[in-house]
Formats: sequence, structure tokens, C-alpha cells
Amino acid sequence: MLNTEQHIDSLIIGQGLAGSILAWQLMQCGQQVIVVADQSAASASRVAAGLFNPVTGKRLLLQADAETVIPAALSFYDQLEQRFKQQFFHNKEMLRILRSEKECDIFNQRSQDSAYAPYLGDSCATPALLKAEHGIFVQCKTGYLDTNALLDCMKALFVAHKSYIESCFRHDDLVMKEAMVSWHGINARRVIFCEGFMATNNPWFNWLPFQPAKGEILSFTSDQQLPEQIINAGKWLLPVSDGSYKTGATYDHNLSNIEPSNACKSELIDGLQHLLKSPLNFKLVDHQAGVRPNTRDKQPFIGTHPSHPQLAIFNGFGSKGSMLIPYYAERFVHHLSDGSAIPEEADISRIRYD
Ligand SMILES: Cc1cc2nc3c(=O)[nH]c(=O)nc-3n(C[C@H](O)[C@H](O)[C@H](O)COP(=O)(O)OP(=O)(O)OC[C@H]3O[C@@H](n4cnc5c(N)ncnc54)[C@H](O)[C@@H]3O)c2cc1C
Repeated sequence: MLNTEQHIDSLIIGQGLAGSILAWQLMQCGQQVIVVADQSAASASRVAAGLFNPVTGKRLLLQADAETVIPAALSFYDQLEQRFKQQFFHNKEMLRILRSEKECDIFNQRSQDSAYAPYLGDSCATPALLKAEHGIFVQCKTGYLDTNALLDCMKALFVAHKSYIESCFRHDDLVMKEAMVSWHGINARRVIFCEGFMATNNPWFNWLPFQPAKGEILSFTSDQQLPEQIINAGKWLLPVSDGSYKTGATYDHNLSNIEPSNACKSELIDGLQHLLKSPLNFKLVDHQAGVRPNTRDKQPFIGTHPSHPQLAIFNGFGSKGSMLIPYYAERFVHHLSDGSAIPEEADISRIRYD
């Protein structure tokens, strides 16, 4: 721990995608930042497949403000790739399998809607190995983010800038002062909590209606030639750049146990086999579980505490962190720098605080 007092702009708690991307963007604006991270604790970002998909769910819903959010994310990852000389975002076409007549009708409706035009391709022939009774179509502007590569590079950069402390932040250790906070000799104008689902234990922000959802993912190798696109039929199959595959994900609001379970492993293997015409030979290489920081109204939680302006939160990115975080980090950095508005749908002032 540090011996002398330090004065910084922002103390950031958590080095998942939210804490890392926000810290990086603040640093780009010349702010002094320290990231406090407990790498031994659960991190959704370390488990996530990083899928990037603008049109999701049974109703094929287009991400709100897709025309702003998606370019912001892609240009951000491009900027990082140039800085680190490493690829993080992998463009990859997605084949969406339609699972019922109802989904076919929805696809036909969406195809007529000009807002969907950049994201929905045509119906296509079913690749030999796949089962697709009701048809299949191409989704565009899809891919995946290599979250672990990105987080490792970010951590190395924070360490090099002496902006990283490996520690479990205890909320009791934070000293509130006039218009600032102090923690172990570090005086900061603000602390920004990016704790993922663990924000539910944060004494200042536990009034926010989080609805965390556990999820599990399998990684495997196979000597069979699987499609090179991402296959999505609710459960998905992702060919990863190292030649292995991932399949996921389960979804469960019961957090009594956040470890990988045999029941979910079976669910994922069944889901994978269900995509294919014949049984797959595969070798399981990993089985991970994580908790998504979902919120009840499915919108992020961003803003400063109603009674303590030196405390802020940047969280609630649910199942879409890789697509949403760069855009909202940019908007939050503007807010912190010049007071410009946080996007209304994400501003925590929408939630009543008693
Ligand atoms: C199974 C699964 C699949 C997913 N698939 C996708 C996907 O395909 N695409 C997608 O975009 N998103 C996906 N997600 C969601 C994605 O992981 C999240 O949206 C995103 O990673 C959230 O990032 P975060 O930084 O808010 O949270 P986290 O990644 O959980 O980071 C929070 C960090 O804060 C740290 N922390 C918490 N409390 C403290 C403390 N007191 N002191 C120090 N450190 C602390 C934790 O250790 C953690 O590292 C998936 C999630 C799961 C679980």
C-alpha cells in the first residue's frame, strides 16, 4: 500500500470491461485515475464470449440507438487495437436459425423495416452439418470481442502507469470528505464503482434494482469441420480464432451457487447437439460460470449518488457489455468533464431514491 498521500481525479473499483474502458477513456482525457481490482473475485467479463449482436431475442429486436452505439464500439476497439497492436474485436458473420413459424413471420416483418437493413441479411442455404427446419438467415455487423486479451492489455497499461492496485476494496475503508473521498492515502475527487453484479453489496448503491443472472459457457475442440460463422439459435456456437469453439449460454437468476454446474453442462451439450444433424465429437477444454450485471429495466446504471456527489456508478450492462460499454463510457466521461447529460435511459436519476 502507498505511504504518501496521492491526489487523483477518479478511483475506479473493478477491472472488468466497465472499469477498464471507463478508466482508459478518462486517462485519454488527461484525468488521473487509479483502478482497484480484486482479480480473485468473480468477473463476468472474464467469462463472457464477448458476442456482439445488434439484433437479439426471439422477437429479433434491434439495439436501441444502434446507429450510434455500434460505430462507437467498433471505432473504440479499432483505436485500442492500434494502440496495443493486437486484435481484440473479430468481425464474424452470424447465422441465425429460425426456430418456429412465428420467428419466420417476425423475420419477414423485420426485413421490411429499413432500420433493420444494415443488420439483417437474406435467408440462406443451411450449411450441411446444421439442422434448421424453419430456415436460416444472415446477421450482419456481428462478431466477438476477445475480452480476456483486452483486459490483460489494459491491466498491463494501468500497471505501467502506476494506476493499478490489486486489492479487494472494502467499502468501510472509504473516508468521505468535503467534495472528495480518501482511501488508504489516496485522495480522489470521486470514486466510480464498476463492480459488476457485486454492486448489490455496495452500501451506497444497493437500492438500484439489479437483477443479476448467472450464465455458463463451455469451451471445446473438435476434429469435425464446423461452420466458420457464429451459429445462433438461442444457444450459440462460436468458432474462436485459436481454432477452438465456445458454446453458451445458460441463464439463471438463482445465485445460491455461482460455480459451474453439471446440470448446465448437460444443458449446453444438449443445446449444441440440437443445432447439428449428427452427433459431434468434441473434447471439453473449459467450463466457466459468471454473473451478468443485469438490471430490472434492462438499461445501464450510470450516474452520481443523489446525496454523495463524490460517489458514482458505471454498471448494469447486462448481457451486452461488449457492445454498450464504449459508447456509455464516452458519454459518462463527457458528463464528468463538462456536465453534459448522461443518456436518459441509463441515468440512475430515473430510479427513485428514498
Ligand atoms: C456466461 C456469460 C456470457 C456472457 N456473454 C456475453 C456476450 O456474449 N456478449 C456480451 O457483450 N456480454 C456478455 N456477457 C455479459 C458481460 O460479461 C457483461 O456485460 C460485462 O462483462 C460486464 O462488465 P463489468 O465490468 O460491469 O462487470 P465484471 O466483468 O463482473 O467486472 C466487475 C469487476 O469488479 C471487481 N470487483 C467487484 N467488487 C470489487 C471490490 N470490492 N474490490 C475490487 N474489485 C471488485 C470484480 O472482481 C470484477 O473483476 C456475458 C456474461 C456471462 C456471465
